[in-house]
Amino acid sequence: MVLEKLSNSLKDTLKKIAKAIFVDEKLVDDLIKDIQRALLGADVNVKLVFELSKSIKERFLKEKSLPGINAREQLIKIVYEELVRFLGDEKSEIVIQDKNPFKIMMVGVYGSGKTTTIGKLAKYYFKRGYKVACLGLDVHRPAATDQLEQVCNKINVQCFVNKNEKNPLKVYKEFDYSKYDILIIDTAGRDSLTDDLIKELKDLNDLIKPDENILVLSADIGQSAQKLAQGFHDACNITGIIISKLDGTGKGGGALTGAVTTNAKIKFIGVGEKAEDLELFNPKGFVSRLLGMGDIELLLEKAKDAISEEKAEDIQDKLERGELSLIDLYEQMKSMKKMGPLNKVLEMIPGFGQLKMPKEMLEIQEVKLEKWEHILKSMTKKEIENPELIDGKRVERISKGAGVNQGEVRDLLKQYKQSKKIMRLMKGGNPEKLMKKFQGKLGKGFKF
Ligand code: GDP
Ligand code: MG
Repeated sequence: MVLEKLSNSLKDTLKKIAKAIFVDEKLVDDLIKDIQRALLGADVNVKLVFELSKSIKERFLKEKSLPGINAREQLIKIVYEELVRFLGDEKSEIVIQDKNPFKIMMVGVYGSGKTTTIGKLAKYYFKRGYKVACLGLDVHRPAATDQLEQVCNKINVQCFVNKNEKNPLKVYKEFDYSKYDILIIDTAGRDSLTDDLIKELKDLNDLIKPDENILVLSADIGQSAQKLAQGFHDACNITGIIISKLDGTGKGGGALTGAVTTNAKIKFIGVGEKAEDLELFNPKGFVSRLLGMGDIELLLEKAKDAISEEKAEDIQDKLERGELSLIDLYEQMKSMKKMGPLNKVLEMIPGFGQLKMPKEMLEIQEVKLEKWEHILKSMTKKEIENPELIDGKRVERISKGAGVNQGEVRDLLKQYKQSKKIMRLMKGGNPEKLMKKFQGKLGKGFKF
């Protein structure tokens, strides 16, 4: 997996969102810190990271109050959208025009992965039915043309080279390329973008007039990507970027984000040494995979299940001790709601079936649960822990904060009191005996 460490930290962050009972500003601040840490660890530029966090926070504060939107989903959506925007938003493919040939010139420093990437691109287009040829203009090192020939032989693609000519302009003029749809041109690199390399690229650019000038950047160059991309752009007008070796480093964030701050877009990414290890770069798909969005629904579900299991154990504990908080009540009602009509559920639960349930307790509707959530959010921590403290004045304030009427706040408090009474009754009875009595009805394996 590309950028595995970054991916794992971002996934953990999303899990935290899914598990949180309340999505509030504090949670957002914590998450932003996590995201910042993860991105900085992947070598993304500090300034960009702070810009990103700022827009996540601003959007959350602005958008969370939209009606009908679950804050949790909204936050995940914002994180996803901002990361996509960060990587250049839309995918930008190389559009091959009918030119006989359409010329793609590949540039980059020595060792960036140009020749390997040429093989990958040649295979990519060959598989899509184009007649592809490659031209070796890395004339300064004999091994370079040999390597290109080997790469082309492996995938059965025509390779033009002249090992005796040291002037790349002359080599270019030697051959007739008109039989081909696409010509991919390998150029020389240096250890860095030196003046003589700039001159050579400018001359080649003027002569060949490529349809695309693609810069190959190795993912491990990290934050220097932006400067390098700009330098090549000034020399020969870069139209697109390919980031190679994204499989080999956890630090590719620098190359990915630095490169897109220049005008050229990332077209492909290289994810291995073999000819098929090339992927079209699509920011949306890339971020989805990074965040595990393909599985995000599943992830959210799992996190919810995990929490309700944990909660269930916790609630059982509290039941035995005759304790119950408002949050427990809310969580319990929410999970029971999922199981079916509440009166049927209650009938199955030892102790509850025998008790006469207040009518309002049986009518757990979605709307009601939502209102409860708002009410709980408007309470202070102290009030949630000790609802007995809530007097008439507080009821009024809570109802205003939650946007519900006072009756609805009282309703929740009433249910809380009733449930607590039931808990105490159950505590007074003998749970073991009750369990045995109802075991037959419930079948083996049912635990309460
Ligand atoms: P050039 O000097 O720019 O032509 O670079 P090369 O194509 O010769 O590649 C330099 C080294 O990087 C070679 O050992 C390649 O196998 C390796 N390489 C290129 N692309 C990738 C990639 O996407 N992943 C990995 N792991 N290695 C790569
Ligand atoms: Mg090379």
